[in-house]
Amino acid sequence: MNVLIVFAHPEPQSLNGALLRSAVRQLEAAGHSVQVSDLYAMGFKATLDAEDFPPGDGPFDPSLASLEGLDSGEQHPQISAEQAKLDWADALILQFPLWWFSLPAILKGWVERVYAYGFAYGVGEHSDQHWGDRYGEGRMAGKRAMLLVTTGGWESHYSARGINGPIDDLLFPIHHGVLHYPGFDVLPPFLVHRTSRVDEARFAQIEAQLGERLASLFSAAPIPFRRQNGGDYAIPALELKPEHKPGAGGFGIHLAD
Ligand code: FAD
Repeated sequence: MNVLIVFAHPEPQSLNGALLRSAVRQLEAAGHSVQVSDLYAMGFKATLDAEDFPPGDGPFDPSLASLEGLDSGEQHPQISAEQAKLDWADALILQFPLWWFSLPAILKGWVERVYAYGFAYGVGEHSDQHWGDRYGEGRMAGKRAMLLVTTGGWESHYSARGINGPIDDLLFPIHHGVLHYPGFDVLPPFLVHRTSRVDEARFAQIEAQLGERLASLFSAAPIPFRRQNGGDYAIPALELKPEHKPGAGGFGIHLAD
C-alpha cells in the first residue's frame, strides 16, 4: 500500500526526526511504499495567498482562485505536487509536535493550500437535499489517516479532567474537520507525551509501540465518526437528529451511538 507522511518539524535530529526515520523504516520493511513531505526541508510556503495563482482581474478570492487553479492546473507547483501525493496515497500520516495546542503553522498552511475548493471541499452535489460529499465522503473516501503527535505535556494534563483539556477534544478539529471532512477514515492518534523525559530506553518502547500501530494501519478500527449523509443529521440544518444522544451536545455526539 502507499503511505504519505507529511512531516512538520524543523530539525532532523529531533525526537520527531528519529520517529519519522523509524516509521519509514518499519513501513518499508512491511512492504509499503512511502513518500515523505518534509515541509521545512522542502521550504514549503506556509501561507495561502495570491502568489499561488496567476494574476486575476478583481480582488483576490482564496476559494475561487483555488477552484480555478485546480481546474486549469495553474496553481503553485507545491500545491499540485501535494495533491498528486494525496491521490496516490492509501494512507496519510500527519506528524508534528503539538505547538500551542494545534498544528505548527507550516502544516496548517499545507492544509489551507493543498485542500483546494473542488479537491477537498465543494465536492459533490450541493442542494437543500444533499450538502456536498463530505464528513465521510469526498475525494479521500476509502483512504485512512492517522496523526503522530508529540507533546511536552504529560498524559494526565490531557486526560478527561486535565488542565489542557482532553486530547480528543483538542484534536477534534483536525480529526473531524481536516481528515473526516474530505472523506478519510481516521484512526486513533499515536501520541508521545512528556517528550523531555525521552531517553534511549523510552525511545525503544515508543518505537515498538509505533511499529504495532503501523502494522495495523490498514486493519485497525477507525474512530466511529458519523457520516453526514448517513441519515443521522437533519439536512439542510445539519444538526444531529434528536433521537441520537438526546439532550447532549459537544464533540462526543458526532461519534456513532
Ligand atoms: P526533542 O526536543 O527533539 O526531543 C525530546 C527528547 O527526546 C530530548 O530529551 C531528546 O534528547 C530525546 N530524543 C530525541 N531523539 C532521540 C532518540 N533518537 N533516542 C532517544 N531520545 C531521543 N507542548 C504541549 O504539550 N502543548 C503545547 O501547546 C505546546 N506548545 C509548544 C509551542 C512551541 C512553539 C514549542 C517550541 C513547543 C511547544 N510544546 C507544547 C512542546 C512541544 O510539543 C515539544 O517540545 C515537542 O513535542 C517535542 O518534540 P521534539 O521532536 O521537538 O523533541
